[in-house]
This record gives sequence, C-alpha cells and structure tokens, in this order.
Amino acid sequence: MCGKDGKLITTSLTLIDLHDISRSSRTYDVRKLFVVHPSTAMRSLARSLFEHWESGYGASYNPDRKEALSRLQLASHLEEVIHHIDLQEKNLPLLVATSAKTYGSSASFEEIIDTLKGDRPVLLLLGTGHGLSNQLLKRSDFILEPITGSCDYNHLSVRSACAILLDRLRL
Ligand code: SAM
Repeated sequence: MCGKDGKLITTSLTLIDLHDISRSSRTYDVRKLFVVHPSTAMRSLARSLFEHWESGYGASYNPDRKEALSRLQLASHLEEVIHHIDLQEKNLPLLVATSAKTYGSSASFEEIIDTLKGDRPVLLLLGTGHGLSNQLLKRSDFILEPITGSCDYNHLSVRSACAILLDRLRL
C-alpha cells in the first residue's frame, strides 16, 4: 500500500473491515474474498476471528456471520491469490484496481460490467492506507473510475467503498 508520502507501507488489518467486507461480498454473491497481508501475526489475528465465527461460540450464535466469513481466504501475497484463481478457474484473473483518484486511463463502470460478463475471472483490488501502490496500479489490467459522491469530499473507508463498488458493478 501507499503511505501519506507515497512510499510503500504495510497497514494493520482492521477487524471491522473483515466483517463488513465479508458481509457485503456475500450479499452480492462474490465468489471469493481474499485478504492479503504479509505479516504472519496479522494473518493469525484474522484466523482467530474466523475460528470464533466458524467453529467457536459465534458459529451457533450468528450463523449468518459464519456464512459471510466462509468465503474469505487469507493470503500472504497477491501472487498466491492469482495462482489460486488460476488453479480454480483454469484462467488467469483480470486485475481491476480501485482508487479514489482518477487516472487518465480509468475504465468506466460500464466497461468493467462488460468485462465481468466475459470468460476471464475478475479480481477487484481494494487498498488500505493511502491506497494501492503505483506498481500495482501499473500492473493492473484496468483502473476503475472512482466512486463520486455528491460533492468534492471523497474520503470513503475501504469497507464503504467496497459496498458501493459491488452495488454499482451489479450485473
Ligand atoms: N487516497 C486513497 C486512494 O486514492 O485510493 C484512498 C484510500 S481508501 C482509505 C482505501 C481504499 O478504498 C482505496 O484503496 C480504494 O480501494 C477504496 N476507495 C476509497 N475511496 C474510493 C473511491 N472514491 N472510489 C473507488 N474506490 C475507493
């Protein structure tokens, strides 16, 4: 991810993001949600959350939450995610980066909706901190145009942005 000064940083996992993004993804029937973090400690924190909802007290207390989290998979690196999708789908995913900023080559929501109807799996990339790194933006097949609200203030959290993106990209 990018930090405030544009340098590469690693952010901490925010548990409410995992909950809310899982719930939004399940609601919009997203096939799989990957959470990528290079730190073993952060991934093990996330794993303890899943265990609570998957097989601990949470599983019987709130089975809907269990179901939402069942599509979430942890990974240490994006390459792992791409490899997993390639194995599952027998096809490499198209990478669609998201950002609050507009880039000259941004793809419209309509273009990405058309892409979603095609044969290739689509991996929608969301960032944390100050957004996805420039390397990742350059590597992506598409950079999606930003969500715009009703004025020039544009500072959505990743979990809010995710819910809006899924709704706007709905087929
Ligand atoms: N300044 C960063 C940027 O330009 O992306 C904002 C980072 S925001 C805290 C975290 C993530 O939420 C972003 O990396 C992006 O995936 C998503 N996001 C936030 N606002 C968005 C918007 N207006 N349009 C699309 N995605 C957005």
